[in-house]
Amino acid sequence: MSDNHSDLPSLPEGLVRRTPWPASVSRAVGTPLQPSVVYASESPDQLDAQYGGQVKGFTYAREGHPNAEVLAGKIDALEAAPLQGQGLIVGSGMAAVSAVVMGLLSAGDHVVAGVQLYGRSLRLLTQDMPRFGVTATLADPTDVRAMEAAIRPETRLILIEVVSNPTLRVADMDGILALGRAKGISVAVDNTFTTPRGYRPFDHGADIVIHSVTKMLAGHSDATLGYVACRDADDRKAIYDFATTTGMTPSPFDCWLAERGLYSFHLRYDRAEDNARLLADHLAGLKGVRRVIYPTRPDHPDHNRAVGLLGQRGGHMLSFEVDGGRAAANALTRAMPDLAFAPTLGDIGTTLSHPGSSSHRAVAEADRLAQGISEGFFRISVGVEDIALLKRDFTGGVAAAAATAG
Ligand SMILES: *Cc1c(COP(=O)(O)O)cnc(C)c1O
Repeated sequence: MSDNHSDLPSLPEGLVRRTPWPASVSRAVGTPLQPSVVYASESPDQLDAQYGGQVKGFTYAREGHPNAEVLAGKIDALEAAPLQGQGLIVGSGMAAVSAVVMGLLSAGDHVVAGVQLYGRSLRLLTQDMPRFGVTATLADPTDVRAMEAAIRPETRLILIEVVSNPTLRVADMDGILALGRAKGISVAVDNTFTTPRGYRPFDHGADIVIHSVTKMLAGHSDATLGYVACRDADDRKAIYDFATTTGMTPSPFDCWLAERGLYSFHLRYDRAEDNARLLADHLAGLKGVRRVIYPTRPDHPDHNRAVGLLGQRGGHMLSFEVDGGRAAANALTRAMPDLAFAPTLGDIGTTLSHPGSSSHRAVAEADRLAQGISEGFFRISVGVEDIALLKRDFTGGVAAAAATAG
């Protein structure tokens, strides 16, 4: 017993030789999860043909892998993407936005973007891209003349969201898409909030569609992913090459989770949307609620456009404001401990966010208030719970806020 090593069994012959997948005449119903980073080819000739595109074969996961491809194909179908089977999955929604902006634009180019884009998209355009010589002008996408006035000779891209965060303003999509067409400028639509069940940008002429798959499409707050699809094959290649070079690779496991979530997307979305509409009307009737913002409510500032664009599909996002400032806001969330107070959206369960202390904390107070985002302002990502439960939770929360304010 002097030498421990001599007691260890010797390494079995062939242990590190990879074992073939067990043969089976039946096939798996669930999509297999394929975490392999590398793929073995038969010969240099075959590998050459793979890289050359004459034969299809995965090589290295950064360049593409089956779980991403399966997921992308399903979102391509939902979005009715013109290049079916060509959608790209990247590691996050922000990777998707970055891949579009950095893959397509060069120093000297200019972007016109919605003034209420997702916070990190705004930061990318206004803080980071100028370091690479790409500038942006922000304009109000509910006003197509303001968007047009922001265009310069060097404008190459218009980036907008259909429904804005968190005040749920509805962009003049028809006007902006017509503007892009008339000026020969690509229009990219971040469709995360609306989802393809609410609005399909390609049907209306958009050039590029972006998603944070993290949100409603995956739907369970357990995978961080993004998606990009393009109308133009050259745009698609430029974005793919940039995303691959900069390593925006999605994890196969995240893709697998997201695909599993996606199977119930339409059911979750429809239920959450029904809940949101009912909860909006319920909140509007509660004492202490100053206003409710929901696109298909008649008191929404863009009501006519919302109904024209979305029909009666107002989506699963809803915002409201209570009287009483931060103290009332604290009382509201504390009175609803069963409901996740979390700066996200699109989870299967309802989540509540407070833009003043999260997404919009870096926005100057005057600008925040100008957008209508006071300390009593909340955004709800409505989930699929029993509506009676949601009404009870919010009735209690609003009452607690009102007690503080009173
Ligand atoms: C969350 C979100 C993003 C960013 O997505 P991540 O997956 O969190 O990186 C981009 N745009 C919108 C509209 C979002 O809601």
